[in-house]
Amino acid sequence: MDTGLRPSYLSLSKDDFETKIDKAYSILAKCILCPRDCKVNRFEGKIGICNSGVTPLISSYGPHYGEEKELVGKFGSGTIFFTNCNLKCVFCQNYDISHLGKGYEVSIEKLSDIMISLQNRKCHNINFVTPTHYMPQIIKSVYLSRTKGLNIPLVYNCGGYESITSIRLLRDIIDIYMPDFKFGSNKSGFKYLGVKDYFDKTKKAIKEMHNQVGDLKLDDNGIAKRGLLIRHLVMPNNSSKTDKVIEYISKEISRNSYVNLMDQYYPSYNSKYHLEINRRLTKKEFLDSIEISKKQLNR
Ligand code: SF4
Repeated sequence: MDTGLRPSYLSLSKDDFETKIDKAYSILAKCILCPRDCKVNRFEGKIGICNSGVTPLISSYGPHYGEEKELVGKFGSGTIFFTNCNLKCVFCQNYDISHLGKGYEVSIEKLSDIMISLQNRKCHNINFVTPTHYMPQIIKSVYLSRTKGLNIPLVYNCGGYESITSIRLLRDIIDIYMPDFKFGSNKSGFKYLGVKDYFDKTKKAIKEMHNQVGDLKLDDNGIAKRGLLIRHLVMPNNSSKTDKVIEYISKEISRNSYVNLMDQYYPSYNSKYHLEINRRLTKKEFLDSIEISKKQLNR
């Protein structure tokens, strides 16, 4: 491995790690882990919009081959899918997990064992899917995993609607941020996700992520080791405001950003109540979004 791309959590001192864990857990007493700012005491069993307590819930884990090739390589990305979500996408394709809470509890010890098992199966990274509402538990389990020999990069695969405080606590722990950048307007965010400030908060969160890890860096085998990887699901009738998302990335993040424009949208869950998104994307719509991106990003 290129030593310049060594996972940053391997160098974090014990004191710094423990301070981050303490600070992160203290947030759960008046939860503002994400910009929903529910301010509920999760230690007392109070539940906010994400419907999550203190013990993490996961739906599954294992090597995953459906992620970007830079994460998958030969042996897969070591995904851990967390149950529940801080967003309420009307088009959610995993609503049984994200909205209905399908999953099972895992202790911190078990979560750390899962990471080690994924590393033992030669996965190229640990990929935390929908991690936002369990951030403290994740960093505590990473700390424990490190004592058990964890040494592969950590991927934070989130919805983009993140608090700056949480992302700053993840500095020197997360190697690869992989946020969705779902919408280029607050109005669309409100309509399809149920939050009033999706665009504003996501812009700031992704800027902070980029400040920490920079553009995506690969090793000699083309495997991602560090950096920012942005996903954007292109939606019918430009409901996702792709032009605004790309404009922001090119002007405020980096023209060299790795952006995965995704074309796999299909109507799901409550999409049927929104006529403009109640169909698949046309080929022309997707090609138009690629053109917009090529003009604004270095490609
Ligand atoms: S993590 Fe959950 S409880 Fe905490 S602010 Fe976000 S939605 Fe609310």
